[in-house]
Amino acid sequence: MSALTFSRSYAQALRRSAAPPLRRALKNRAIFLDRDGTIIHEAHYLRDPRKVKLYRGAAKALKQAERSGFKLIIVSNQSGIGRGWVCEKTVDRIHNKMKRLLSASSGARLDAVYFCPHAPWDHCPCRKPKPLLVRQACRRFNIDPRRSFVIGDKIADIKLAKAAGSTGVLVLTGHGREEWARWPKNKNWKPIYVAGSLFTAIRWIVGREKLVK
Ligand SMILES: [Mg+2]
Ligand SMILES: [Zn+2]
Repeated sequence: MSALTFSRSYAQALRRSAAPPLRRALKNRAIFLDRDGTIIHEAHYLRDPRKVKLYRGAAKALKQAERSGFKLIIVSNQSGIGRGWVCEKTVDRIHNKMKRLLSASSGARLDAVYFCPHAPWDHCPCRKPKPLLVRQACRRFNIDPRRSFVIGDKIADIKLAKAAGSTGVLVLTGHGREEWARWPKNKNWKPIYVAGSLFTAIRWIVGREKLVK
């Protein structure tokens, strides 16, 4: 072991032992959001930016979450790319359109958009419910997943919440209603709340915050 590696790891150990309580207290909170069927209307493998349509109240709700101090991070499976049905450039254009609509209707600003471009048969490490993308976002934005939420319309979104150590809220838009009807029995990763829409999901989260404070 060289002197340099020794001193670097010693410095790291020192930082860790000196800092933890403060660093933990200063961590950010986030709402990890599914895209299709949650923020924008579900369209089977959307590939036309002109067809991006926000759910009613979505922009307003996201602005409210932002004001309450939550980072807003999209975590989305876009297997249409891996299946060869849509190219990555189009997916970027769809995201830009969604951001423009959000900003125009309420001024809400997304902090980041993460997506998995792989097909299910690629067995990649980033496809929901695997928590890799959430973990990356937590590192990048200094987020505490345990004090954060995942909102989505699928079982995979709530499984993701469980895998990441966050709290899952199911919305009944998109595939939500069918998913809730076929929810696996005896699972300990049920959503903490089932909301009619993103708007009611966020109203519930923000309202709960006020009670806890
Ligand atoms: Mg969805
Ligand atoms: Zn992936």
